[in-house]
Amino acid sequence: MSKNVSIAIIGGGASGTLTALNLLRKLNVPAQIWLIEKRNEAVYRGNAYSSRLNYEPLNVPAGRMSAFSHLPDDFFYWLKKKKQADADFDIIRESFVSRRWYGDYLTERVGNAAAQSSHIGFETLIDHALDIRFDGRKDAYCITLNSGNNLHANYLVFATGNEPPVDIFKQEEVEGLNCQYVSNPWTEDPLQRINEQENVLIIGTGLTMVDHVVSLNKRGHKGKIFCFSRHGYLPLPHAETSQNFVFEFNDQQKDLPHIFSEVKRNIDNANGKNIQWQNALDAMRGKTGRMWKMMSLDSKRLFLNRLKSIWEIHRHRMPLASSETLKEMEKPGQLEILSGKVTGINRNKGNVIFKFISRTSKEERSIKVQRIINCTGPSGDYFKTDNTLLKNLLGKGWMKQDDLKIGIVTGARGEIIQDNGVVLQNAFAIGPLRKATEWETTAIREIRTQAEDTATQISSRVELNHEVMVEIGL
Ligand SMILES: Cc1cc2nc3c(=O)[nH]c(=O)nc-3n(C[C@H](O)[C@H](O)[C@H](O)COP(=O)(O)OP(=O)(O)OC[C@H]3O[C@@H](n4cnc5c(N)ncnc54)[C@H](O)[C@@H]3O)c2cc1C
Repeated sequence: MSKNVSIAIIGGGASGTLTALNLLRKLNVPAQIWLIEKRNEAVYRGNAYSSRLNYEPLNVPAGRMSAFSHLPDDFFYWLKKKKQADADFDIIRESFVSRRWYGDYLTERVGNAAAQSSHIGFETLIDHALDIRFDGRKDAYCITLNSGNNLHANYLVFATGNEPPVDIFKQEEVEGLNCQYVSNPWTEDPLQRINEQENVLIIGTGLTMVDHVVSLNKRGHKGKIFCFSRHGYLPLPHAETSQNFVFEFNDQQKDLPHIFSEVKRNIDNANGKNIQWQNALDAMRGKTGRMWKMMSLDSKRLFLNRLKSIWEIHRHRMPLASSETLKEMEKPGQLEILSGKVTGINRNKGNVIFKFISRTSKEERSIKVQRIINCTGPSGDYFKTDNTLLKNLLGKGWMKQDDLKIGIVTGARGEIIQDNGVVLQNAFAIGPLRKATEWETTAIREIRTQAEDTATQISSRVELNHEVMVEIGL
């Protein structure tokens, strides 16, 4: 059977894998799917689920991580069947299980779907997509790969995910630090060369920092750990119990203070019903996209500059067990949270001296460490990242950076909008790339819905095209 239609998915993390999985389940006509992933260890896992840390729990309970929106317990049942024997605890829907296990789950689900779809060719390429042009002769996109090969595809899905943090130091400041400075915490095990007596500085105080600190603790680290960010806020813990709550949102007014007063009203309602605030915020899911779209550019800018850090610690919470460990480390002073503005770093006899203006004392302070890990979080300003493909496409106007520089401009269903405002034909974005339009587009619950919708859009176009071809006898 000829597989005359081809779909290239660029990025083999959770977004790309879920798109492939849905295409394999939905496509009823012959087709070829290519999944292109530049890092071997990230295939079907991406940055989040290929973790090498010894403490790397999901940040979301198992019961909310199914790959399918219509089968909410799929991951939980898979865990019970495949991982219960390996776990030293009873796995329940509220458990925070290993991120690598989640990668195992995605790998198995996509493998099964491929095995059951004999009319679809599915191939995973370990390669780096560098650029794309349109090949008029073949009426298809032509993807330039780092291996020197070219790949033709009729449909494109961009699932390039979370870009590593942008360096906060100048190139000349970190040159020569070698393994003393880890600029990207997601590529390897950043802790593997750390001696237990060394002092470690983690820049960034979000969830990636939490995983690194708890991992160090579980390895029996003895040295001091400093965690630094502009504000010094830590993610708050998840609720002790998960309770149902209906979030009511009155969208009559569109400005930021109104949205915040709506959030507060719902939290007060939850309190009145003895429901923890975390449950009220979780019930907002699915509504935040609408809120974001309602806001003016000025409101969005105000939110990003003034409120984002407060919002993030409430929204992206840590498991209770991680929170307990951090508190235990803080008590004797092994863990110190610092805040302020970085003024620079320099080297002194094998040590790194990190200098900053303290947010509390307003004075310059310096600390002496042996290791620094950059956990400042993903960047959406693609011109500043190392993603050659995105830079090339932005450069030639196939993609357009949004006004706030947090992502690219996409349509309501993930269509890529070019610099001239016209949709790029048969090309879609999924996952973190949609941040500028959707705001909350990073967790599995949002990504799986996008993957289902993207696969539906592509399948219906492919099938329509197939019917026309059959009708005209091609
Ligand atoms: C440490 C961490 C923990 C998280 N924990 C959770 C959690 O518990 N629950 C939850 O719901 N969400 C969690 N998230 C959110 C996470 O963003 C999503 O769940 C999801 O993993 C995002 O997947 P992605 O495929 O879009 O991105 P990524 O995981 O970043 O994958 C994108 C992939 O594309 C590849 N790529 C990029 N450009 C190219 C190119 N040009 N050519 C070839 N390959 C390319 C990259 O190598 C990468 O593997 C976590 C995120 C992180 C970073």
